[in-house]
Amino acid sequence: MKLKLLFTIILFPTLLLFSQEKCGFTKHQENFFNQNPRAKLAHDEVELNLLKTDIQEFLNKKNASATAVYEIPVVVHLMNDGTTPLRTDAEIITWIENCNKFYDTTFGGDWLTEANGGTVIPFKLVLAKRNPNCTATNGINQINVTSTYAQYSEKGLNSDNEDGVTQAQLKDLSRWDPQMYYNIYVVNTFDSTPIVQTGGLQGYAYFPTTPDAFYGTFMKASVVIDSSDPTTLPHEFGHSMGLDHPFNSGTTTACPTVTAGGCSVDNDKVCDTPSTKSLLGASLPSNSDNNPCDSDGWNNVQFNVMNYTSSSRLFTPGQKDRGVAMFLASRENLTKSLGGTAPSGTAPVAVISTSCVPPSASVTPGNYNFGMALVEIGSVRNMSSSSNSTNSNRVYYDYTVSSCLTSAFTTDLVVANNPQSIKLANEGTNAGKYSAWIDYNNDGSFSSSELVVADEIIGVGSFATPTERIFNFTIPTTGVTLDIPLRMRVVGDSNESSTTPCGQLQYGEVEDYSVVLKANALSVEDFVSKPLISPNPSLGIVNINYDKNISQVTVINVSGQSVLNKKYNKSNITLDINHLSPAIYFIRITSENRITTQKIIKE
Ligand SMILES: [Zn+2]
Repeated sequence: MKLKLLFTIILFPTLLLFSQEKCGFTKHQENFFNQNPRAKLAHDEVELNLLKTDIQEFLNKKNASATAVYEIPVVVHLMNDGTTPLRTDAEIITWIENCNKFYDTTFGGDWLTEANGGTVIPFKLVLAKRNPNCTATNGINQINVTSTYAQYSEKGLNSDNEDGVTQAQLKDLSRWDPQMYYNIYVVNTFDSTPIVQTGGLQGYAYFPTTPDAFYGTFMKASVVIDSSDPTTLPHEFGHSMGLDHPFNSGTTTACPTVTAGGCSVDNDKVCDTPSTKSLLGASLPSNSDNNPCDSDGWNNVQFNVMNYTSSSRLFTPGQKDRGVAMFLASRENLTKSLGGTAPSGTAPVAVISTSCVPPSASVTPGNYNFGMALVEIGSVRNMSSSSNSTNSNRVYYDYTVSSCLTSAFTTDLVVANNPQSIKLANEGTNAGKYSAWIDYNNDGSFSSSELVVADEIIGVGSFATPTERIFNFTIPTTGVTLDIPLRMRVVGDSNESSTTPCGQLQYGEVEDYSVVLKANALSVEDFVSKPLISPNPSLGIVNINYDKNISQVTVINVSGQSVLNKKYNKSNITLDINHLSPAIYFIRITSENRITTQKIIKE
């Protein structure tokens, strides 16, 4: 009897440990959606749109080539208790590297290579090299939480309505713009679990459709140095790509709910991951065993990294497709951020401050989808969500201030090449009204003589197929300021509104860009066809193929300095950039007295 009692006492905490979820994604994402039903609607709309869309066609539209690798700048906030650094920089660097090895299937050991059935996930997490002020950083922030919240040392992060510090409190202590960096919080523990106990909840993250204020991940410090299991970060960032657990609503004893809708709407909405129970604490079945949840058997889902399994070894092609599409549908700006690139020596020239910042929207948050789904002018091509619940119906985006964090928001325009054109797109299910101004005289305000698009209507569009219109305009030859960045403002709203540069919007949004006017005719981006540059990213050899004769190729770094310049008289060129440091560059190609510039990543 005594022996049995002792056994019960020892067994109980073990059972408790195993019965606790390893990942808090489902609970936190559901809690968030329950408290923010409009954000749930916005998420469902993205899901529905992807369901209606040919994913490959969507990826083609996003210029997502089969070999593209998306570098995501990350910042790791090490939330310590003030006595010791929670983890060392070297440990964090190795942790991030291991995640990337998992993604490109080179981790080794039991982890599957592509040749053995693994799937390369085309994301690479890169510790930030420039901070939001555009100065150098290693992307790791040591933050003393205990000096503000004494209870943190023992209780850690409150994940389960226990005492501890809330995620909002942690984020207030340290957070970088989620549009430009993926924020990773490493915490000492969750919910008063003793710090020495490495089991139980390992972390959680949010879907990419979740608003900026919540997007990111929280993980326990013990996962950083668990060399036997590099899974937690690839798993949690998997959620941040848009991947769910393949057991979804299932438990360790019950299969997940299935509907007549089939695999594209059930569970993880991925068709090559069979349904499964949660395998938490279970012994691993083999592929020849019966899968009680799916007549197709196990098909390696027992080794899937998004499963709870003691042997997380792979992603599937279906997970890759969904992850890339969901991420690009919601978080494309992270792929344009220069946060992972070392700062250039020269600070970017700031655009003059605007005399008026548009006020917030006056409406109840909702999925109105008024505003620009696309702005394309010169070398700027910015596809972004229109006003919806995911972005909290944010009205104003000043992309000029991000000019040191992304080159996607500034362009040259050549006055001699008048007329100019700007392409705008409407993705709402209602027609929208659009206007744009360029502050030609650089006085900080927008006058009627600076209108380049005036109250133009763009018809009904959709997420999958935004309706595009091209508007032509002529830059005046006098009274304009040349060669310094000017502010361009684009406004999109309901077709019943009146669009003014600073007025109250009904439902739409305002985006500011930076435009540099050049008198010189030799820097124009008006090719109908562009030279094809491949591979991109490149390890050292770049092939340039074009249907016109190329006379000159110049490689320019992000601070605008020429680092390579060669003359040619042919249309197919092999360029050696082995000697250049890994970074983002621009390749300027001169052909028949015209110039086009394209971004290239040197790895
Ligand atoms: Zn999870």
